[in-house]
Amino acid sequence: MVKVDEYKNSDIEELFNKLKSSKNGLSDKEVEIRIKKYGFNEIKEKRKATPIKILLRQFKSFVVWILFIAALISYFIGEIPSFWAISFVIGFVIFLGFIQEYKAEKAMEELKKIVQPTTKVIRNGKVRKIPTREIVPGDILFLENGDNVPADAKIFELIGLKVDESALTGESVSVEKSIGDLIFAGTQIIHGKCKALVIATGMQTELGKIAGMIQEVEEKTPLQIKIEQLTKFLVIIALTVSIITFILGLIKNAPLTEMLIVVLALAVASIPEGLPLTLTLTLAYGMHKMARHKAIIRKMLAVETLGSVTVICTDKTGTITKNEMTVKKIFVGDKIFDVTGAGYEPKGEFLIDNKKVNIDNEKDLLFLLKAIALCNNASLEEIKGEWKIIGDPTEASLVVVAAKADIWKDDLEREYVRLEEIIFTSERKMMTTVHKKGKNKIAFVKGAPEIILRKCKFILRNGKIEKLNRKKIEEILKINRKFTTSAFRVLGICYKDNLKSLNPKNIEKDLIFLGLVAMMDPPREDVKRAVNICKKAGIKVVMITGDSKETAKAIANKIDLFDNKINLKKIKNRKIRKIVEDGIITGDELKCLSDKEFESVVEDIYIYARTLPEQKLRIVKALKKKGHVVAMTGDGINDAPALKKADVGIAMGIKGTDVAKETSVMILQDDNFATIVEAVKHGRTIYENIKKFTCYLISRNYCEVLLTLLAVILLGFEFLPLLALPILFINLIGQEFPAIALSLDPPRKNIMLKRPRNPKQKFLTKKNWLLIFSLAVFMTSMAFLVFNLGDPISNIEKARTMTFIAIIGMVIFNTLNFKSLDESIFKTGLIVNKLLILGIIATII
Ligand code: ATP
Repeated sequence: MVKVDEYKNSDIEELFNKLKSSKNGLSDKEVEIRIKKYGFNEIKEKRKATPIKILLRQFKSFVVWILFIAALISYFIGEIPSFWAISFVIGFVIFLGFIQEYKAEKAMEELKKIVQPTTKVIRNGKVRKIPTREIVPGDILFLENGDNVPADAKIFELIGLKVDESALTGESVSVEKSIGDLIFAGTQIIHGKCKALVIATGMQTELGKIAGMIQEVEEKTPLQIKIEQLTKFLVIIALTVSIITFILGLIKNAPLTEMLIVVLALAVASIPEGLPLTLTLTLAYGMHKMARHKAIIRKMLAVETLGSVTVICTDKTGTITKNEMTVKKIFVGDKIFDVTGAGYEPKGEFLIDNKKVNIDNEKDLLFLLKAIALCNNASLEEIKGEWKIIGDPTEASLVVVAAKADIWKDDLEREYVRLEEIIFTSERKMMTTVHKKGKNKIAFVKGAPEIILRKCKFILRNGKIEKLNRKKIEEILKINRKFTTSAFRVLGICYKDNLKSLNPKNIEKDLIFLGLVAMMDPPREDVKRAVNICKKAGIKVVMITGDSKETAKAIANKIDLFDNKINLKKIKNRKIRKIVEDGIITGDELKCLSDKEFESVVEDIYIYARTLPEQKLRIVKALKKKGHVVAMTGDGINDAPALKKADVGIAMGIKGTDVAKETSVMILQDDNFATIVEAVKHGRTIYENIKKFTCYLISRNYCEVLLTLLAVILLGFEFLPLLALPILFINLIGQEFPAIALSLDPPRKNIMLKRPRNPKQKFLTKKNWLLIFSLAVFMTSMAFLVFNLGDPISNIEKARTMTFIAIIGMVIFNTLNFKSLDESIFKTGLIVNKLLILGIIATII
């Protein structure tokens, strides 16, 4: 293995030079050999939980130690059957705890497998997206703005590269890189792009060497902390009541050792040891279930916060829409062409007024098609008869439309050799490439029409270059509006030839306008339904897009985004009223509002158009200030601050950069808006289930304690309704199974018909405590009544058996009772959760 500190030695230099010149990368065969030789590109986890570790952790449980004491006492006083029974109970408690924790660990591991990161490399001469773990030394990385550096590598090609190395060095200034410099695994590209040769992977990287130091620890969520506090509180009560029972026993001269075992059993029964365990399992399973629905939870916190989300701020392109672009119209010269064809197949015709045109006669069109094929980083490939794209769908659609006119990007690039690129960013909203053809240096520019028009001085019409005057600009903008109001995404195209200098400032000025390209990106099928579910669930959906106001509005209308709740009367300031009257605000308008002005209208805005990524942070802050719980989607590196600030930061799985993914708490594997709504539904369900089993466990636990206390006070120690073993039995049967079953209840039908939960509300409300208390009292009274009806004076065994069966019956009833905290069993129905029914049958048996 080539180590970083040896990178200067001759073989790596030789390899570097060889690969630099070939630029084809490794072949599949070479990769196979190298994987065998160097292993996978992985940092070995040091803290992995092995089954033995999980098993040993069970002995930390307080309950297990109380049981041990009870078993020892039984043994020493000669109660051998009790000793065996309690030993069995100990084994069972440890086994159940182990299974629960092991399953939770497994579910988490599976999750990690689902979110395998990928990286772009060049192999066999083509750009390929491969799992990051399959990178080997010698691979050529192709990294861009927002990517994580997946291995240590040496740069041989770059455009304006800046890297954030703070993860390794602790210094948060970005480092500018030059050709020949090293980039390290664990750092991030924050500007520009590069190609680099991998020189070390996995544990051999600088990151690998310090891996043990920077492994992330999952923090406890507020809910976990609350449940832990609740458990502690309940343990104190359990121990206090047990001690009182013990003292009462002593006062009444009960046999010391036997009483001690009963009191210990009582303590075990009343300690809700299942609570934290069931919580972990519920959260882990919940996360697993959500991952199956394509919402990957990175931080457990998201599960509980999702349930209280009141606003979802979502991107448009790719989240609400399919991000499958097809160019439908082209305006060039003074003509508007319709383009036929679907998907990425380069087949289609160019029409004017529904009549096919001979494009060989359309010189302006042909030149525009060349421009959009060249000012482009996407590529089109036919794999097994199917046309696939690599790169940004906006750009890919341009490659496709050019190919429809038999203009192929690969061929063209040989003729027009690319010299420079001024990259596209969401701030600039434009992109430029410079090419050399013969002696002529020519720049092609594409971007948001109103932005590039500001940089144009001329226009190409029928092969002639004319001055671009106000009237012509108005005409172009009118056509642009016509396209955007029909929901098209529009790009303006221009060029400049005979370049003298390659200074970016000189290139992107006095340009020659070529035309407009309009592409269709239809909304995803399930989004309209999801938006309507949100409306019923009291969640507002807000669209934030870099696209134009009209395009955003047209798409919003297609998905029912607006709900006509804008109350203009309350907005006193006329300037602001004018801005937000249609519920839409642009980035420029937003800039003009002070924070206070913005906060006064933030709840009335449905669409933010032509926004800059950094404005997302302002939007989150304003909404949070208004008391909202905000979910926010993002993909780019500049979205990271907003994703961090939002209550639920959501990154795009397909479109998202590594930086966005790392700062978010949830990743949408399919980039789909509907998946967020599905995740909210699961979040709400999980929270409700946690509440359900907590109430169930507490109410059930106190029944035995109260019953014993009551009997000791009223009847005396000889008339204990339950002895140690039945207490432990009820505890085992009635605790774990039904609680687990309740915790896995599927979403209720009307879970999305309620308003979001108030995050400030206490975990258990007064109403919940009342329910817990009244059920515990009811069960205790019933059990006491049954015991007395059983005539304990003449036949205590019979009375105890009757009480035991009565409690089991009530435990079963109680389980069904807690199927919903709001609705009665008659409404929820009996057979929703099969596991619960199975749990009950097991209990009866
Ligand atoms: P969203 O924020 O909903 O994802 P978006 O994809 O339109 O919307 P950006 O990617 O920031 O947001 O694009 C903003 C604008 O920049 C687009 O409306 C378009 O006019 C222009 N644009 C997009 N992609 C390119 C590109 N590859 N080259 C040049 N201009 C582009």
